[in-house]
Amino acid sequence: MIKYKADANYMRRLDGEDKLARFRKQFHIPKTKAGEDCVYLCGNSLGLQPKGVEPAVRQELEDWKTLGVEGHFHAKHPWLPYHEPLTSLVAGVVGAKPSEVVMMNGLTVNLHLMMVSFYRPTPERFKILIEGSSFPSDRYAVESQIRFHGFDPAAALLELKPREGEATLRMDDVEAFIDKEGASIALILIGGVQYYTGQLFDMARITKAGHRRGCMVGFDLAHAAGNAVLDLHDWDVDFACWCSYKYLNSGPGSVAGCFVHERHAKAFNLPRFAGWWGHDKTTRFKMGPEFRPMEGAEGWQLSNPPILSFAASRASLELFREAGMERLREKSEKLTGYLEFLLKEAQLPGLKILTPANPAERGCQLSITLEEGGRRVFDVLTTTGVVCDWREPDCIRIAPVPLYNTYSDVFNFVRVFAAAVGGKAKPKAAM
Ligand SMILES: *Cc1c(COP(=O)(O)O)cnc(C)c1O
Repeated sequence: MIKYKADANYMRRLDGEDKLARFRKQFHIPKTKAGEDCVYLCGNSLGLQPKGVEPAVRQELEDWKTLGVEGHFHAKHPWLPYHEPLTSLVAGVVGAKPSEVVMMNGLTVNLHLMMVSFYRPTPERFKILIEGSSFPSDRYAVESQIRFHGFDPAAALLELKPREGEATLRMDDVEAFIDKEGASIALILIGGVQYYTGQLFDMARITKAGHRRGCMVGFDLAHAAGNAVLDLHDWDVDFACWCSYKYLNSGPGSVAGCFVHERHAKAFNLPRFAGWWGHDKTTRFKMGPEFRPMEGAEGWQLSNPPILSFAASRASLELFREAGMERLREKSEKLTGYLEFLLKEAQLPGLKILTPANPAERGCQLSITLEEGGRRVFDVLTTTGVVCDWREPDCIRIAPVPLYNTYSDVFNFVRVFAAAVGGKAKPKAAM
């Protein structure tokens, strides 16, 4: 346990000792109207733009401009094998072998493609287990898959709910639920980090529990990729999907990621939706009528990929390689621990932290509620240049991101927040 202190000198010392501090300079930080850096604590929703993105995208625009179709072979970074370095970078972030990951489509699209292959209901085993209050898109996707197979979501959709009066799930309860209901569950599909509460699940344990009962196990890593240390291969997860515009800073709507465990690399008997980009690379351009999927995750590709989006992703993922997930995580625990400490220190009336207090059970985000006036406080934050987000009905999500946030960001957030809750001191612009 770190013994934090509440004063500004201590905050400056933490920033001074931060070995990852130099990475902040690699990002564009949005400015307030007065031209000062915003306190940006919203990387869980849209990560900031790395400075390397613009030149990387410009390079592709230039190559397209000057080379046209020849860019596939002769661009500075030829477009045809463009994904290869990207794949190994992202594999490092999620703890996978390069052959197990591919960047393609959007997150929800990938969830569907994975369910086509890994949700194969039978009359005895037809249910999908998700976490309660899951992200709406995941829920819509899962329900529509259930209906697509002729089942009724009322019977086939199981939800994990916290105990009465609690905000987050207990792992023992999750495991007990899977043990009890497992025989009827075809697929377990849970967010690695719950988007609303910020709870980080023990994915190894869930996977083990699911496999013990014969279930497929997949994870939505929208809030986990680039946030938590992941070991998808070793955890033996069947598949996983994530977007790249949150913690992975690849830009709005940027191309998503997908993991398929090596064990399924040659499972050509699985149903899958096919497209030419999933076809065996060596004969893809023979344009034959018969689909022969590639081994590994690449075999699930449909279309040729968006190079401009790849360029942004690549610039961002290089920063992750440089910083390293372990070191990022180390800072993240310290930064979020500091946020938690200052919030408690401020003794604000009606404040509740929904996110688990145990660092092993959370990523960088803290989700907080106020008994009253939460929306008003949130509006004060917004007008003061503090960027975080509001989730109905009453939750403020704060995500200090270790790549670009500082201890002074956290300090200033709590100062403005406390003043707004107290309604006394007029909040000053964040510094
Ligand atoms: C952000 C997020 C999404 C968004 O889906 P897209 O297909 O990228 O629009 C889906 N699920 C979860 C859990 C998310 O956090």
